[in-house]
Amino acid sequence: MTEVLELAKRLMAAESVTPATGSVFDRMEAMLAPLGFEVTRFTRGDGAAGSPEAPVENLFAIRHGPEGSGHFAFAGHLDVVPPGGGWTSEAFEPEVRGDMLYGRGAVDMKGAIACMVDAVKDVPKDAGTISFIVTGDEEGPALHGTRALIDHMREQGHRPDLCLVGEPTSVDRLGDMMKIGRRGSVNIWLEVEGVQGHVAYPHLADNPIPRLVAILSDLDALVLDSGTEWFQASNLEITEIDVPNNAHNVIPERAKARISIRFNDLHTGQSLSERIGAIAKKHGGTALPIVSGEPFLTPPGEFSEIIAAAVKAETGVDPEPSTTGGTSDARFLRSVCPVIEFGLVNATMHKTDEAVAVEDLSTLSRIYTRIAKDVLAR
Ligand SMILES: [Zn+2]
Repeated sequence: MTEVLELAKRLMAAESVTPATGSVFDRMEAMLAPLGFEVTRFTRGDGAAGSPEAPVENLFAIRHGPEGSGHFAFAGHLDVVPPGGGWTSEAFEPEVRGDMLYGRGAVDMKGAIACMVDAVKDVPKDAGTISFIVTGDEEGPALHGTRALIDHMREQGHRPDLCLVGEPTSVDRLGDMMKIGRRGSVNIWLEVEGVQGHVAYPHLADNPIPRLVAILSDLDALVLDSGTEWFQASNLEITEIDVPNNAHNVIPERAKARISIRFNDLHTGQSLSERIGAIAKKHGGTALPIVSGEPFLTPPGEFSEIIAAAVKAETGVDPEPSTTGGTSDARFLRSVCPVIEFGLVNATMHKTDEAVAVEDLSTLSRIYTRIAKDVLAR
């Protein structure tokens, strides 16, 4: 059994459905401390379990290089999504069958965290400063996770030059894709208020439904942009229409809908919120936006080239720089330093029987070693 496989199994065996605290962080600390890392752990949030304010644990670890040396950061999360049913083996009892390791978190992303830990063993201490930015709240509301870690780093004066997030970005085989950016995301709750009444006496009522339909019709016709060099076109989806009404002869007093926009770097959460708000207002409605992330882009350059070279050397594959998919904690880390995401094959993430090829763990560990060394050697 290789050492990186052992590290992955140890992390995966600690149940850590989001938001995560405790045991999985104990194990992470026990792995990093002997490697010379100063480990800081703190918990944020004091709400009840299941609430958005439920406690979340975070871990920041740093191993200082010589004075004036570079600082490279690995970032990721130790929380996982709930296992769901139908597993062949227990979700939190990692098991190797054939050449695959099965268990929740295998690729998203305890496997990658294990690779990071294993990778730094081969980076000499005098190469430079290395840190780990690890949260227990990425799969949840992300209120007290990476954002709190960034606050902690600012307070302590830790500022990495570059950050690699280990999300599972590979698609068909390890190395075929890295994420150099992500789209932003905003959800908007629309509401139109009318006056309830009898359908036979419409002059005494005010039906909100035609006005909501007019809003949605305008929104559906909206072309936000046609994409950029690095991003696909921004997209607006109507995700819910809600007009509770149990009676056939009543004009309802209220009509609601919800939309979700994934947008590129031609927009901000605020610019879109204002635009949608104006359309809702035109038809007598209101719009309540919640921005869950702004887009980020680390344009191809030195950092992406270092990653591509490391991937090519270990796998023979040229990773495609991409900005597809959902949001990740890179949306917060972008405020600290340039960020790129690269990790395992994502085919089974969030699914039953999540699994990683055992071989990929060793390969990714070597890729991460190369990236850390090459970034610090710049
Ligand atoms: Zn993840």
